[in-house]
This record gives sequence, structure tokens and C-alpha cells, in this order.
Amino acid sequence: MAEFDTDILIAGGGLAGATLALALSRALPECRTTVVESFPLSPDALPDTYQPSYDARSTALAWASRNIYEALGLWPDLAPYATPIQRIHVSDRGRFGATRMSCDEQGVPALGYVVDNRWMGLSLMRALLGESAVQWRAPAEVVDVTPMTEGVSVVVSEGGEQTSMTAQCLVVADGGRSGLREKLGFNPDHTHYDQHALIANVSTANPHEFRAYERFTDTGPMALLPRGNPQRAGHESALVWTLSGDDLEEVLAASDEEKCRRLQARFGWRLGRFNRIGECSHYPLTLTTVAESVRPGIVLVGNAAHTLHPVAGQGFNLALRGLMTLVDQLRIASDKGIPLGRLDVLQAYQLTHREDWQQTVRLSDSLIQIFGAESSLLGAARDAGLVGLDLMPGARRWFARRAMGLAAKRTAPLKSVEPEGTGT
Ligand SMILES: Cc1cc2nc3c(=O)[nH]c(=O)nc-3n(C[C@H](O)[C@H](O)[C@H](O)COP(=O)(O)OP(=O)(O)OC[C@H]3O[C@@H](n4cnc5c(N)ncnc54)[C@H](O)[C@@H]3O)c2cc1C
Repeated sequence: MAEFDTDILIAGGGLAGATLALALSRALPECRTTVVESFPLSPDALPDTYQPSYDARSTALAWASRNIYEALGLWPDLAPYATPIQRIHVSDRGRFGATRMSCDEQGVPALGYVVDNRWMGLSLMRALLGESAVQWRAPAEVVDVTPMTEGVSVVVSEGGEQTSMTAQCLVVADGGRSGLREKLGFNPDHTHYDQHALIANVSTANPHEFRAYERFTDTGPMALLPRGNPQRAGHESALVWTLSGDDLEEVLAASDEEKCRRLQARFGWRLGRFNRIGECSHYPLTLTTVAESVRPGIVLVGNAAHTLHPVAGQGFNLALRGLMTLVDQLRIASDKGIPLGRLDVLQAYQLTHREDWQQTVRLSDSLIQIFGAESSLLGAARDAGLVGLDLMPGARRWFARRAMGLAAKRTAPLKSVEPEGTGT
């Protein structure tokens, strides 16, 4: 096998890239991993304390994702700032259909958890600090990639200098606006929803009681996720509010009181009065997927591979399951002495993960198509669907298992990969 500067080079140390580095260090301790991250934060320059901020952005981790972080040894660190979601209430505003899921019914302490992104990032960094096989280069950027007969050669720009580095496998984890994906000629498929997500944290008169709300309105879906103290139900929730371009501009231009009033009119009174809304950010909503996420020596992960509508809270959870599948396949290959970037190794990963991503993309997309539509026929079908879900424990369990990330199969045997194979 050729000599490489590193075994796995991860371009992008966001949530996906950093989690992959940690998972590799746990599953393949002999594997040399290099993370190249453009943001200037690294494991050896971490802030001493963590002060949660009202305006922090957060991610809903499904139960299965919590289990992944438990297996990686990170959960005890995340848990102090992870707000449990014990119940989910799904409803269609202005219609009678609704369904409720609860952790008791599923036999788990929580259906998922809401964790601040910054806390997840810091916890990951802290865990990586002790991993000598992981080299973290930041602020640095992967600016060019050249596939080789075996592995890849990448150009890293750091401190005004450019250096080349070879790796058995390049993992592209540079996010939804992945420049590397485009540069490498992967063909992303974009579905523009013609909607925007407004993100903010809000306070309500009533405590959230660890309940998440998915509410479908005639102008698009909205979600409210409980956040704050994991022990005592507080009054803060994380809001994802889908709006048309015109409505978004109006809401952004409005005073905080007016924003709360409009939100109240959309969401209703289940949480009492909305009495505070924090800093608002917004994103155009697009579903981006790639049919093929692997090439010899190269694999796309996280948002670089698929970017979903945030209202279903599935994007990172799907990414996480994909990362674990990738690590499984790399471990199997490593055990057999097979080069980690060989195409059949990466294809085995893609094949194993495909059903999960296709189902999750379909579920997340159909939530928007079905529940975003303004047709009375679809409205009646939605009511029937939600009422049916509410009445049928089996159907509700099926839905809940998907929301919890428990429906995916993880590792298929690497049947096609043999040491003598000529995959690449
Ligand atoms: C509003 C909103 C709410 C969401 N809520 C949820 C949720 O509740 N649950 C859920 O599962 N998912 C959620 N998601 C999705 C989730 O945020 C993403 O799946 C996740 O952040 C993707 O992480 P990533 O590491 O792939 O990408 P990113 O977080 O974008 O990280 C990419 C990293 O790559 C770096 N980078 C970029 N280019 C280069 C380069 N050339 N070289 C080196 N480094 C580079 C960047 O600095 C960045 O750190 C939400 C998304 C949005 C927009």
C-alpha cells in the first residue's frame, strides 16, 4: 500500500466532521485522522467555562443519536445541557386532526433531546483533546483536491501558506454550501421549497413540560422544541417557523411584540402567551441531495451529502447514523487490510446507508408537501392521517420509531469487499 501523510482527511470540523473524528478515534485507534476546519477553534484553545445564551442555536437529537453519543463516551458530557423531549404533539392548525407521542409509550426516558450546537461543539472538542491520533488544523481550509491512483492529494491553506497532503480517503464534511462537492463535480439535486425558516428562541407564559410541538399551518409547518434546564420544565422553546419570502420580510421588520402577536396567531395558546422572542435568523429552505456520495478515495457526509428541511429535525440525526455506518465499513476494511479509500469500501457504506437516507428524505419532504398544501381534500386526508395515527398505537409506534431514529439498519456485511479485490 502507498505511504500517506494521513489515513483519513476530514474537510470541515463542524458537528459532522468533529463527530466522525471522535468515532474514528474510538473504533480505529490506529487510524491517523486529520481534520481541516476553517473556523478558528481547536481542541487545545477551548474556553474554560460554558455560559448558555438565550439566543443559542440548538439541535434536536433523536433517541438513537443520544445512544450514538453514549457509545462514543460523550453523552455524560452533553447531558447537563440536554433538554429531554418527553412528548411530541403533532397538529394541523385550524383542523381537528392531532396526534401525540410519548416517551412512556415507547419505553424510553425521552424521545430525544434539545442540545445547544455550541455546547455540542465544545464537548466534541474536549473529547478530541486527548486523542493523539487526531490532528486538528484550524483555521485552515481545503482549497483543492486531486484524486490519485490510490487515495487523494489535497491542498490545505493555513496561515497564508499552502501545503499538500495525501490521504487514503477524503471525507467532505464542509456543510450545505459545500464548495468542495461542487468543485469535485458531484451533482447535487436541489428542491427549492419557496419558503424560509425563521429561527429564534421564545419564552411562553406556560412551561413547556418537556413537550415538543410540530404544528402544520396553512403557510407552512412550525416547530417548538423545549430548551433550558433538563431537570425542571422551564418557559423557553426553540422555534422553527416556516414563512414565505414576503411574510418573512414583514416579520423581520416587525417589533418583538408584533412578532410575538403573529406567532401567537399562528401557533395558538397551548403554551400560553408568547412574551419574549430572541434574536431571529433565517434560511431559505432547500432540499439538497446527491444520488452518488462516493468516488474512489472520496466520500461526502453531513450537510454536504444531504440538507433537509429543519422542521422535522432530522438532518443531523440522519448524518450521525451515516457517520456510524461509514465508521463500521472503514473498520471492517481496516481489519481486512483493505485500503480505506477503496471504492467498494465506500460503496458498501453508501449501499447500507441508502435506505435510511432515502426514507428520511422522503418523510421530511412529504411532511412539507402534504402538510404545506392548502387543499381541503389534503386537509381532510391530513386530519384522517393524524387521527388515525392517534388512534392506532401500532402506526404511532412506527412513526415514533422513525422520529427517534430507530428504524434504520446499520451495517450490512461487506460481502463485495475482499482483500484481493480491485475496487478502485
Ligand atoms: C435552522 C436549522 C435547524 C436545524 N435543526 C436540526 C435539528 O433539530 N435536528 C437535526 O438533526 N438537524 C437539524 N438541522 C440540521 C443540522 O444543523 C445540520 O445537519 C448540521 O449542522 C450539519 O453539520 P455539518 O457538520 O454537516 O455542516 P456544518 O455545521 O455546516 O459544518 C461544516 C464545517 O465545515 C467548515 N468548512 C467549510 N468549508 C471548508 C473547507 N473548504 N475547508 C475546511 N473547512 C471548511 C465550516 O467552517 C464548518 O465548520 C438544522 C438545520 C438548520 C438550518
